[in-house]
Amino acid sequence: MKKPVITKEQALELKKTYPTPFHIYDEKGIVENAEELISSFSWCKGFKEHFAVKATPNPTIMKILHNLGCGMDCSSMTELMLCEKCGITGDDIMFTSNETPAEEYAYALRLGATITLDDLTHVDFLASIAGGKLPECVSLRYNNGVNFAVNNQIMGTPQDAKYGMTRDQLVEAIRKLRDYGVKRFGLHAFLASNNLGNDYYPTLAGILFRTAKELAAETGADFAFINLSGGVGIPYRPEDEKPNIPVIAERVRREYESVFDGDMKPSIRTELGRYMLGPYGNLITTVLHFKHIYKEYAGVDACAANLMRPAMYGAYHHITVLGKEDAPATVKYDVVGGLCENNDKFAVDRMLPALDIGDILAIHDTGAHGFAMGYNYNGRLRSAELLLRKDGTVKLIRRAETPDDYFATMIFD
Ligand SMILES: *Cc1c(COP(=O)(O)O)cnc(C)c1O
Repeated sequence: MKKPVITKEQALELKKTYPTPFHIYDEKGIVENAEELISSFSWCKGFKEHFAVKATPNPTIMKILHNLGCGMDCSSMTELMLCEKCGITGDDIMFTSNETPAEEYAYALRLGATITLDDLTHVDFLASIAGGKLPECVSLRYNNGVNFAVNNQIMGTPQDAKYGMTRDQLVEAIRKLRDYGVKRFGLHAFLASNNLGNDYYPTLAGILFRTAKELAAETGADFAFINLSGGVGIPYRPEDEKPNIPVIAERVRREYESVFDGDMKPSIRTELGRYMLGPYGNLITTVLHFKHIYKEYAGVDACAANLMRPAMYGAYHHITVLGKEDAPATVKYDVVGGLCENNDKFAVDRMLPALDIGDILAIHDTGAHGFAMGYNYNGRLRSAELLLRKDGTVKLIRRAETPDDYFATMIFD
């Protein structure tokens, strides 16, 4: 059974100050999970998780992870600025972007971020921005074009994905970058998202380790790190199992030791987003209305603008009715938000305990790619984000948007 971040009593108390809907995160869960990741990879000198900022771009969350020794992975100018505002700069930042505007590379260079190039043509582009003086270490994103992973719903198959460069292009990129004075390299790939089971990282690591070793032999390049990127999944469904990070890290270690049996000893980086935060956030929402036509609908005060994944990918998010945790699930509902879009459904044909108006629902696993994918369609405003701290108190870590925020960019002539 999935445990909500807060109880009904806590939700009722919080609602007095922070009206629903809101997202709430569990600090204890976040910290324990991050610590397990870091200790599981402690066999690898220099291991670092660079949290994918896009998953949960919140300063408090970022600082919690940074204090545990994590860096950040950014994909845009504003994410770079956000890191800078949080006091996170230099090699603590990976900048893994695509279709990157010149000013974003310039900003990343100024912060001293480690840049991952998505394409061969970006070598000259970056050099022109850097005035010919590139950083000592540059990372390259590889797309092996081979479909091996379990879950391609979010990213598409590697052959169809827009990311990364081919094997031949890696060689050419390394040669060009060395001519520009680059001394060390990173190798990066992100081939599939939300992979359950324990195979994804070990398989990807095997591919990247062997590729890096071959590239080193072919070009003489010195590899500072291999970046396994994101993609480890989380159990959205109650019957799913959480990937076992100690087992995964151990299997990556075996790949590492079988490939790097000589002097070559690159470190490992990861850029997990979903795995770091997903299970430790809930979207809390209140039942407003029922409607019975051809189906039974329960209308809530949150909508897809607060959590887009069900509408966008048909993604499953488990729902707990607070205070009815042990009640039998006897009624089949579509749980829906108020957008003028028929895909605004948090659940379709979901068996739940009989609901009452005013019941509070915890929509699970919204800690990553939840609030972050929010938008303002239909004039809906983004919600607050709260943190349940380790000491049991609750802290506001982002206020809800107000109509003034919505009007701020409009021009009223
Ligand atoms: C989105 C993204 C991640 C994080 O992916 P998760 O599936 O959340 O782990 C990591 N690296 C890059 C480059 C990304 O675009």
